[in-house]
Amino acid sequence: MIQDIKTQLAEMNLDGNRNCWTDRLQAIRPEELEKELQNPAGRYTIDRLVRLLSPAAKDFLEPMARQAQALTIQRFGKTIALYAPLYVSNVCVNSCVYCGYNRHTKFQRTRLSIEQALAEADVIASEGFRDILLVSGEDVSFITVEYLAGLAQKLRDKFSSISLEIYPMSRQQYQQLFDAGIEGVTLYQETYDRQLYAQYHPAGPKRDYDHRLESPDHFSAAGMRRIGLGVLLGLADWRLETLALAQHAAYLMKKYWRSAVSFSFPRLRPATCVTEQWPYLVGDADLVQMMLALRLCFADAGIVLSTRERAQLRDHLVNLCVTRISAGSKTNPGGYTSDDPTGRQFEIADDRPPAQIAEKIRSIGREAVWKDWDRAFCDGQGVI
Ligand code: SF4
Repeated sequence: MIQDIKTQLAEMNLDGNRNCWTDRLQAIRPEELEKELQNPAGRYTIDRLVRLLSPAAKDFLEPMARQAQALTIQRFGKTIALYAPLYVSNVCVNSCVYCGYNRHTKFQRTRLSIEQALAEADVIASEGFRDILLVSGEDVSFITVEYLAGLAQKLRDKFSSISLEIYPMSRQQYQQLFDAGIEGVTLYQETYDRQLYAQYHPAGPKRDYDHRLESPDHFSAAGMRRIGLGVLLGLADWRLETLALAQHAAYLMKKYWRSAVSFSFPRLRPATCVTEQWPYLVGDADLVQMMLALRLCFADAGIVLSTRERAQLRDHLVNLCVTRISAGSKTNPGGYTSDDPTGRQFEIADDRPPAQIAEKIRSIGREAVWKDWDRAFCDGQGVI
């Protein structure tokens, strides 16, 4: 019997006061890194991850990068999958203090009808994409299961992979969406620091930390093939967040072994009407260390990078350990069929057209993959 994730995090002191982990991270010595890097790459233990995340590991990023690159090529080949987000609504009942879509922000909100969403999807398909991510604020009265299922059924002609990044649902609702052709869900815990979580989410259904923590169980149990996890980098100490995130991933991999877990790495970006200063902003070297450490612990995990990151950094990381990137992203509903920037969730940093990004991927010796999945591969139970 596998212990639930809430109990695991509590027993490991990753839920609540996490100071003991800070001490452990600080105490790691270079000799321990040298020894750790002799071990086979790709296997997770919390002790291994602590070493790879430690401040001492900063001096070992080059050997870590070499191992991560070799392991990624061994497991994924020289391929980089491409996807595009389609924002269907920027209405939201929550009040996340870091997000321009929070319910207190005054701007003209947009909800796409299914016909409008299909027009956006046509633009995305014309750019070559066959992998689409539907994104929405927590707009439960409009972005319903019926809406998503209806849209997915129509998108299936053009897209071989449809996934979601919206609000948490019940297992039964996820099951309905899976039956309609949606095969992946990404849900960020935002932060695994329970106290900070309460500060960042002062009102709305998202206030419920435990409900969010349990949600990946719901969509995994519904048979979703892709399980996406992540934290919003900048909300809390990134090293401590990575420890909790990794434990969550290890738990899901063990329990729902037929699904594929991936990590995303969104860093806080400038957003409409969000002016707070953030004490935990994550630098480039920290981001790279986090990615490498996770790759060296999880050989088969997808590593996803969005257009929040600038082109130069993305090109570098594509060559190391990233397996899937977005391209040509518009972060507002209607953004593909109109140039009106109103209602963008955040500013993107890599605005190159998808074809240019694909060409860049090829120029560094990788293959840009527009389609890496087809529901025909499915055995009827939702997974191969
Ligand atoms: S982060 Fe998501 S849930 Fe929070 S305000 Fe923004 S859109 Fe809504």
